[in-house]
Amino acid sequence: MESEELYRSVIEQASEGILLVSINNKKIIEGNAAFNNLLGYSSGEVVNMSLYDIIAEGRETIDLEVDRILREKRDIRLYHRDGSYVYAELSANSITYNDQDTMCLVVHDITERKRFEEQLMFQANHDSLTGLANKGLLEDRLSQATAYQKRKNNILAIMLLDLDRFKVINDTLGHPAGDILLQAVAERLKVSVRSYDTVARLGGDEFVIVVTDVLNTNDVITIAKNILNLFTTPFTLNGQELFVTASIGISVYPFDGDSVEHLLMKADTAMYHCKGQGGNNYQFFAEDMNIKVRDRLTLETSLRKAIDQEELILYYQPKVDLTTGRICGMEALIRWRRADGKLVLPAEFIPLAEETGLIIPIGEWVLRNACRDTRRLLDKGYSGLRVSVNLSGRQFAQQNLVEMLKDALTESGLDPGHLELELTESVLMKDEEGIIKKLCAMKETGVMLSIDDFGTGYSSLSYLKRFPIDEIKIDRSFVQDITNNPDGAAIVNAILAMAHTLKLRVVAEGVETMEQAMFLVEHRCEEMQGYYFSPPLPLEAFEEMLRSGKQLTVASQHI
Ligand code: C2E
Ligand code: MG
Ligand code: MG
Repeated sequence: MESEELYRSVIEQASEGILLVSINNKKIIEGNAAFNNLLGYSSGEVVNMSLYDIIAEGRETIDLEVDRILREKRDIRLYHRDGSYVYAELSANSITYNDQDTMCLVVHDITERKRFEEQLMFQANHDSLTGLANKGLLEDRLSQATAYQKRKNNILAIMLLDLDRFKVINDTLGHPAGDILLQAVAERLKVSVRSYDTVARLGGDEFVIVVTDVLNTNDVITIAKNILNLFTTPFTLNGQELFVTASIGISVYPFDGDSVEHLLMKADTAMYHCKGQGGNNYQFFAEDMNIKVRDRLTLETSLRKAIDQEELILYYQPKVDLTTGRICGMEALIRWRRADGKLVLPAEFIPLAEETGLIIPIGEWVLRNACRDTRRLLDKGYSGLRVSVNLSGRQFAQQNLVEMLKDALTESGLDPGHLELELTESVLMKDEEGIIKKLCAMKETGVMLSIDDFGTGYSSLSYLKRFPIDEIKIDRSFVQDITNNPDGAAIVNAILAMAHTLKLRVVAEGVETMEQAMFLVEHRCEEMQGYYFSPPLPLEAFEEMLRSGKQLTVASQHI
C-alpha cells in the first residue's frame, strides 16, 4: 500500500507527461498531471479514451507507431483538447499492470522546438520581405511541377515579372517605400493566383509565377493579362498614390526546355525584350530574342567604356531669339561616336543609360563639358549665350546633384546665369514638397530651370505656378500641329498665354518651316529651336555659325 502510494505521488508530480495505456486495445488507463496539462484535460478525463483519440494519425499508422515507440523514441503529433496540435516525443516501456500488458508512455513536449524548426524551414524557403517562396523553393516546386506535367502531358508556364522603373521609384522615394511597394505587389500576386500555383520572389523587383495545368498558350495569355490588370489600381506609398506597371516574360514547358535553369533563363530573356519595347506588357520567349539581348549587353558594355575612350561628344543646336532673330543660346545634345565611326543618337542609348545608372557619370560629363565649351565661347566674345543641358530623372534624384552642379560651374568658371537645366514634366510629378525644395536649391546656385517637352506629361498647367522655373519648351508635336491641324494653333496659343501670365519664357522646339516660325513670331513666342534655323552641330560648326553672324530673317521682317 505504502509503496503504491509513493509510486503514485512520484508519477503525479513528474514534470514529464506519463500515460498508462493498454497495449491490447490502446485504451488509456491513466495519465498524470503533466500529461493532462499538455493536452488540456482535467484530471481523470482521459481515462477510457484511447490512443486513437489523442494521436493525430490514422488507426493503422497509430498501430505501427505503437510498435515502434516500444523500441525507440518517436516525434508524434498529438491533438490538444481544443483541436490544435501539440508535438511530443514519445518513448515507452511495456509493463504488466493489473495483469494486463500495459505500456508506460513518457510524453515529452517538443512543440516549441518543432515550431522553431518549422520557422527555420520557412525562413530558409521564403523571402523575408514578402513571405513568398524564395529561389530555392521555387526551383524545387518547378522541378516537381515539370515532372508532374510530363506525366499528364500538360503545359506549364513560367512568368517572370519585373516592375517597370522600380529603380527610379527606389531612388526617388527611398528604399523603405520601395519595400512597401514590393510587399504590396506580393500581396496582389498572392491573392490572384490559384492556390496550387507558386508565386516566388527572386530578389529585387523580380517575381516568378509558375502556372500549372494549362491546356494551351491562350490560357497563359489570359492569366498574364489578369496579372497585368492587378497593376491598374494605384499603390499607396506614404499616403501618395503611385501607378506602377510591370513587364512579364513567359517561357513554356516543354517547348522552351525542360530544365528549371533554361526555363527561367528564357523567361528572363523574354522579360528583357518586353522592357525594351516599353514595358507594361507580357512577352513569350522566342529564339531570336537571344540575339537582341546579346546586342543589348554588348551595347551596355561598350557604353560603359564610352566616357573613358572619349567616344561621347556634344552637339549644339542654336536657339534663336524671336524678337531680334539672333542666336541667344544653344542646347547641348549628346552623341556617341563609336569606334567604327558610327554616330549613335541619344534615343538609342539614353534609355539604357537611365536603366543601368550609367546616366549619372554620362550626365556629369555632359554638364562639365557644356559649361567648359560655353565659357570658352563667351571668352571669345560671343556674349549673351545661354547653354541648355538636359537632366534625366535619375540625375535629378541624385543626392549630390547640387554639389555636382556647383562643382561644374566653379571648375569651368562659367557664370551660372549662362546655364539652364532642362527637366521633363515627369520628374516634377513625384513628391511635390521634396521636389520644390530641390528645385529651389538648384535655383540658389543661380542657374535657370526649364521644362522640356512641355505638354507631353499628364500634369495640369496649374502645377507650374508652384515651381521656381524660368522657361517652358513647347514640345515638337504641338509645334508641328500649328500648321497641320486646326486645333494645333489654338493649343500653342493657349500655352503661350498661360506661360506669359506666369511670366515664363517660352521656347518652341522642332520648328521646321517658315510658316511655323512666322506663327511663333506673331504670337510673341520668345525663342525657337529647330531644323528650320539649324540642326544640332558639332562645336566647331556651331562656333563657325556664330562667327558668320547668321540670323533668322522672319523675325526681323516682323519687327
Ligand atoms: P530634347 O531635349 O527634346 O531635344 C530635342 C531633340 O529634338 C533633339 O534630338 C534634336 O536633335 C531634335 N530636333 C531639334 N530640332 C528639330 C526639328 O526641327 N525637327 C525634328 N524632328 N527634331 C528636331 P536628339 O539630339 O536626338 O535628342 C533626343 C533626346 O535625347 C533629347 O530630347 C533629350 O531628351 C535626350 N538627350 C539628348 N542629350 C542628352 C543629354 O546630354 N542628357 C540627357 N539626359 N538627355 C539627353
Ligand atoms: Mg532638351
Ligand atoms: Mg524637348
